[in-house]
Amino acid sequence: MTKWVYGFGNGKADGRADMRNLLGGKGANLAEMSVLGLPVPPGFTITTEVCSYYYDHGRSYPEELDGQMHDALAQIEGIVGARFGDKANPLLVSVRSGARASMPGMMDTVLNLGLNDETVGGLAARTGDERFAYDSYRRFIQMYGDVVLGVEHYRFEDELEGIKRERGVSLDTELTAADLKTLVDRYKGVVQTDLGQPFPQDPKDQLSGAIGAVFGSWMNQRAITYRRLHDIPASWGTAVTVQAMVFGNMGDDCATGVAFTRNPSTGENAFYGEYLINAQGEDVVAGIRTPQNLTKVSREQAGSDLPSMEESMPETFRQLCDIRDRLESHYRDMQDIEFTVQQGRLYILQTRNGKRTAAAALRIAVELAEAGVIDQREAVRRVEPQALDQLLHPTLDPKAQREVIAKGLPASPGAASGKIVLTADEAETLAQMGDKVILVREETSPEDIHGMHAAAGILTTRGGMTSHAAVVARGMGRACVSGAGELRIDPKAKTVSVGGVTLKAGDVITIDGAAGEVMKGEVPTVQPELSGDFATLMGWADAVRRMKIRTNAETPLDARTARKFGAEGIGLCRTEHMFFEADRITAVRRMIVAETVDARKAALAEILPMQRKDFVELFTIMKGLPVTIRLLDPPLHEFLPRTEEDLEEVARIAGVDLGRVRHRTAQLHESNPMLGHRGCRLGISFPEIYEMQARAIFEAVAEVKAASGETVTPEIMIPLAFSKKELDILKAAIVAVAAAVEAEKGIKLDFLVGTMIELPRAALRAHELAETAEFFSFGTNDLTQTTFGISRDDAGTFLPDYTRAGILEQDPFVTLDRDGVGELVSLAAERGRKTRSGIKLGICGEHGGDPASIHFCESVGLDYVSCSPYRVPIARLAAAQAALRAEVKAE
Ligand code: PEP
Ligand code: MG
Repeated sequence: MTKWVYGFGNGKADGRADMRNLLGGKGANLAEMSVLGLPVPPGFTITTEVCSYYYDHGRSYPEELDGQMHDALAQIEGIVGARFGDKANPLLVSVRSGARASMPGMMDTVLNLGLNDETVGGLAARTGDERFAYDSYRRFIQMYGDVVLGVEHYRFEDELEGIKRERGVSLDTELTAADLKTLVDRYKGVVQTDLGQPFPQDPKDQLSGAIGAVFGSWMNQRAITYRRLHDIPASWGTAVTVQAMVFGNMGDDCATGVAFTRNPSTGENAFYGEYLINAQGEDVVAGIRTPQNLTKVSREQAGSDLPSMEESMPETFRQLCDIRDRLESHYRDMQDIEFTVQQGRLYILQTRNGKRTAAAALRIAVELAEAGVIDQREAVRRVEPQALDQLLHPTLDPKAQREVIAKGLPASPGAASGKIVLTADEAETLAQMGDKVILVREETSPEDIHGMHAAAGILTTRGGMTSHAAVVARGMGRACVSGAGELRIDPKAKTVSVGGVTLKAGDVITIDGAAGEVMKGEVPTVQPELSGDFATLMGWADAVRRMKIRTNAETPLDARTARKFGAEGIGLCRTEHMFFEADRITAVRRMIVAETVDARKAALAEILPMQRKDFVELFTIMKGLPVTIRLLDPPLHEFLPRTEEDLEEVARIAGVDLGRVRHRTAQLHESNPMLGHRGCRLGISFPEIYEMQARAIFEAVAEVKAASGETVTPEIMIPLAFSKKELDILKAAIVAVAAAVEAEKGIKLDFLVGTMIELPRAALRAHELAETAEFFSFGTNDLTQTTFGISRDDAGTFLPDYTRAGILEQDPFVTLDRDGVGELVSLAAERGRKTRSGIKLGICGEHGGDPASIHFCESVGLDYVSCSPYRVPIARLAAAQAALRAEVKAE
């Protein structure tokens, strides 16, 4: 018989921490903590296999589930000494989701389940607190009504506000037991009116309703969006954990809180967290009340006068510190712990590896390795490459003028400027149009996830460091300031005001998520200093990495930045990018519109010295490291004169009449420039262009040799070829230029001639291309475009529909499509190697800086990946992780 239900409690458990695939992260860790003897309220977990069964069988359950749940519930009853549905002594439970990967706030939760018109009396009598019992009951109806029954949330909120108004009070806590009783009746009335049936009174029905809702929430829109953003497959499913309730809201000797074993923003090895006295779990995360600090030190640092838990509950705090140490050394990683104190007794409700900023991830991994808790390879595995992005990007220029208009909590570091938007949808819409936006909300909820992702930064007026906004922003690497309480948002007027300042939606603000500051206008930024931990971890990564990391760079600035970040050469110098500057573009245009070889040669003669100088600079910066120079590949439309002024300028410089230039421009116009006269097709039509470039490269090699003695071995790359014949013709021309320069300069040149693989035909005929080409570099931007038949320039208008509809899991221009494009890459690698064993293979499309694609590159055994300068550290780390994973596979 399949085991669908795993119990835990009283120092025992059916499951363990390594069963997270089956029990979800939450269920597995509760089982583990129970076995460790930590104070975990007893419960049981319904496995993720039930979720799969549920969706595979038309939302129904396996037959044995009921019986297994019944037994597991009986065990909880035995441990707690209360019975589910018992009038006098009722057991109440929480029902929560828990997937394999944590998805904070994405799915549904129901608390206080088991209350009804009768058991509420039992709860009141047992606790001697009628107010508490009715408060729990009204919370339950509200949550269950919203989550399970689908009654609109505001219907309950309206009733709550109504009774407060009638009683003339402003806080929930000022309502009496009698008020809450009335409220319960009104809530039940809302359910009856909206659904035409009463609120379910049978606890068993309540339980199966809640379990169904949790499984159902796996497929809600926000969970689907979250999974798409975090690459979590829908097939994993969620587990459901049913657990005996403990109460943090039974009085002033009760509390609820969230703690991190180390600081999740900085990584400092200091206990860190927040708690609320007399509150229920969700109050902390939801950001409804601003929570208090856990430790005295952090309270003092925050300048708060509300007592820390260390001061208000010293004995319980000591127990919590002890648990902190035990959990961290057990899991060997920073933990995020949820706890509740019920009448002075501490309970742990959850532990998981805590989300952290990139800076914290680095510091924690390095410090744990240095303390011998984990080894260096494990430290390398622990840091998510993409997260490094947060560290590499600019922070506010300390010297810049700034007008701070409000302060909040430093919830997620980084500086961001952008237009104010007040809703997640607007954030998404404006971002899609290319605007940078700051999402400003009272607080965020999981419904805002798409807008948070689209925004450059997030600003909230309520909520603490562990509020939804703060947690999600840190995970996404967005700058975030939370709880900026002085700000007033007026959604109707679409304004944000503070003091005498009123800003409108669309006005630009800047937030500094490291300082918690909000500024008017755009504040200039500077490059960050990278910490010692960064260099240490990068060093460890470099020690395990097999693939080399090169950069795509053509300007000295980019080349220098990339070197600083550890690039080991240039994998793609796009020579056409060297011509965009104002003083060059006219010469290039003149070359392009030239109608005779002589006119073209005259234009090229002007360009030659500029190109030579460019290459001298690059070779000098790269100091003997390999440099791959791609011969001209201009999508013509980017270069043709556009305006009347451009046309006149070209005519004037070329000394021909305007009509001819206009005519030639019209002649060169293409319907599909991406598939037009680009790449080596240009070199085939106009050999003198590539000859000039080859000459510039070789003369630069000679110049650098003469100046510094450095020997440069340039790798000359032919773009967009589909046949060996193209390569033969062009290589012969390059070799002839080399011979001429050798004779002129009296030197011996060393160089390689290779090609890009950017077309399916090139991949298929790779064995022939490799007869001429001495290296391949996969141009996966074009290879993706041509494999899918989707124009790179036009994909943006319809590709989102494809990812939304689940036809494509990811944008194939961002993450390499392994099944199609990937197959062409591995096939070309294999065919190329057959002809020329050991042929040098690299990738220089955008995918060269994408961690998932880098894993693929490792699996095909590429020699290097090449990416933009800012992605070099990301690629170094991703390549190291890929090598570690390949090692594990090989074992
Ligand atoms: C490519 O196609 O992947 C490539 C690197 O070349 P470009 O982006 O310049 O077309
Ligand atoms: Mg290309």
